[in-house]
This record gives sequence, C-alpha cells and structure tokens, in this order.
Amino acid sequence: MKLGVPKETAVDERRVALVPDATGRLVKLGLEVVVERGAGSGAFCADEAYRDAGATIVPDAGALYAAVDLVAKVQRPSVEEVERLREGTVLVSFLPAARVPEVVRALARRRVTALAFERVPRITRAQSMDALSSQSTVAGYKAVLLGAAHLSRLLPMLTTAAGTLAPAKAFVLGAGVAGLQAIATARRLGAVVSAFDVRPAVQEQVESLGATFVAAEAVSAAAETAGGYATQLAEEQHRRELELIGRHIREQDLVITTALIPNRAAPRLITAEMVRAMRAGAVIVDLAAEAGGNCELTRPDETVAANGVTILGPTNLPASVPFHASQMYSRNVLTLLQHLIKDGRLTIDLADEITGAMVVTHQGDIRGQ
Ligand code: NAD
Repeated sequence: MKLGVPKETAVDERRVALVPDATGRLVKLGLEVVVERGAGSGAFCADEAYRDAGATIVPDAGALYAAVDLVAKVQRPSVEEVERLREGTVLVSFLPAARVPEVVRALARRRVTALAFERVPRITRAQSMDALSSQSTVAGYKAVLLGAAHLSRLLPMLTTAAGTLAPAKAFVLGAGVAGLQAIATARRLGAVVSAFDVRPAVQEQVESLGATFVAAEAVSAAAETAGGYATQLAEEQHRRELELIGRHIREQDLVITTALIPNRAAPRLITAEMVRAMRAGAVIVDLAAEAGGNCELTRPDETVAANGVTILGPTNLPASVPFHASQMYSRNVLTLLQHLIKDGRLTIDLADEITGAMVVTHQGDIRGQ
C-alpha cells in the first residue's frame, strides 16, 4: 500500500502531515511512503530526511496523486486536488464538511473515502488521534505570545532600579484545550490570569493552573454535551454571561478568546460597547475568528484598532509554529493509520467507533451532518 504526503497548497500553510520520524515508523509497518518534493520544507523537514526514513520523493503533486492509494494532508483538499485523486483513494485530513459542501460532493463523486480529524470522537482511546486538540494546544500557546508582542506593557511583575512594574492582567474566555494552554502560557510569562467558561467542570483545571475562575454562579447551566463540548446557552444565561464579561473585561490588558460550539457560529462574547470600555492599549486575540469571532469587531486575519484596543483574529496560528505543530499532527496521523491498518491491510470498518465517526465520504455516499 502506498501513502502519499503532498505539499500543502493553502496560503501560508507551513505544516506537513507527516514528519520523517513518523514516516520511518510507517515504512516499518510495511507501507510505501511517497512524499512530494519540498512537502516538509515549511516545517524544516528536508527531502533527505524523508529519503533516509525510507520514503520516495516525487517531483510534483500530479505524480504523487497518480501513484498512491492513501493520502495524508493537513488542510482539506481543494476541488481541483480532489479531481486528481484516484478513484477509491483514502484521504485523512482536516475537513470541515459543513463549510465546504462542494469539496465533500467532489470527494463522493471520486468515490474517495475521506476521514475528517474534526470528527475524532472524544474518547480516551482516540486521544492520540485528536488533531483538533493537538493543534489547539499550539494555537493557545502562540495566541499569548502574539498578544504579548502587541501589548504596550510587559506581562510579568518586575522590580528594578528604575521602579516596580505591576504585572499585566490576562483574561481567557473559553477554557478548553486552547484556553487552558493560553492560561498556562500567560502564567509562565508572569501575567495575573483569570478565565471563564460555560462548562462548570473546567473551574478546577483553571485553578490548578494558577488562574482564577470568574464568578461561575452567573452562568450555572451545565452547558456540556456527553461528548465534552459546550452547547449554546439559553438567551437569559447568555445575557448574564455578557454582563459578567462586560464587568470583568474593563480591567484587563490581554484577552484571549477561544469559545466555540461545534457546528455553529462562535458565541458572541465581547460587544463593541465592551471594547469601548476597555483600557487603552489592551489587546484581544480572537481564536474563534474563523468561526465568526467571539468579539463583535474581529475581522479574520486582520488587525483592528478600536479606541486604543487592538483586536487580532488569526485563523491559522498552528501554521506559524510549523515544526512542533507538524510533529504533533504527524503523531495523530500515525496513530490513526495504525488503527486503520490491520495485518498490513487498510480496513475501513464503518462499525468501528472511531473510524465510523470520522468517515465523511465512502463509496460515493456522504455521511454524518
Ligand atoms: P472547543 O474548541 O469546542 O471550545 C473551546 C471552549 O469554549 C470550550 O471549553 C467550551 O466550553 C467553551 N465555550 C463555548 N461556548 C462558550 C461561551 N458561551 N462562553 C464561554 N466559553 C464557551 O472545545 P475543546 O477545547 O476542543 O474541548 C472541550 C473539552 O473537551 C475540554 O474539556 C477537553 O479537555 C475535552 N476533550 C476531551 C478529549 C478526550 O477525552 N478524548 C479530547 C479533546 C478534548
């Protein structure tokens, strides 16, 4: 069986789906690995390193897609890329199915079996395949660095001969995977950190990282699905949440927002009015920008200045830390392939709890939401 690793084609995408270390492991499993020339260059993985791990380098994507039965990518393919896949190819990548119906239809037409990392079930067995989590970890970390770089103050408290500086105050909205990593990073940099989430269960995790959990009683709904994701709040709960955030945000220097609800637009948590009441020089990094933004003023991939407040809406921070983001993604791909390959054969078992949940298209059919 041949696995292909193409060079990512999305603008500014520097990650690669498989790093040389994982390539070597798959070769040992009996796979032939074919890598497009320069596929790893953005993540500082040289062609020679893939060759040393046992892969074959091909000059372009056309040669790659024509030769393989299995493709590992980071970003969803474009319709043009799908047209180049051989019929029956198995594809593993991110694939936000609801947002790109034309790609999903093209995959079904080509009879591609597409597995989407967005659909990895949140069960212990699947944790090491969970690319949403691995990439959110990177995004949460980088969001704090990005925000800190835009701040007009330092994060830590400093006592110097030139005077004492008070530490900056950081506020993290949404304490899931990205939010918890943002809290940890802001704490390491010396900020005084607070956080809020609608899932009461996270309070303990927030506190264990040395941050304070903002008045949980304001929103008491157990806004959590069995899968561990948040649900949309009722109108009254949402109003109370906005009041709470509005009061707290005025004192903050750095605000990182990460709140998402699966298959819906991101909840609107910071209004233009709240931004007007914030300290001049404050910075908001909105990690929900791609899903519509947690802040009313966010523009995806733009820097907005409003009343002295800077609002950043980066949509692909993991790509800005390509080495480690690729290393983690590659581990997710490796574990998924180890799950799919039994006795040297790749098996798509739709009855399997993990495989069945991840398959978006199979034998011409479109599955799931
Ligand atoms: P996510 O990216 O979907 O959302 C980010 C956070 O935003 C979540 O914590 C969510 O509760 C919060 N949020 C949503 N609406 C909000 C609102 N109105 N106000 C404030 N916050 C709001 O979630 P995620 O980070 O991917 O993960 C959520 C949970 O799932 C975490 O507890 C994580 O540890 C757990 N998880 C479990 C597994 C597993 O068991 N295999 C894998 C990954 C994640």
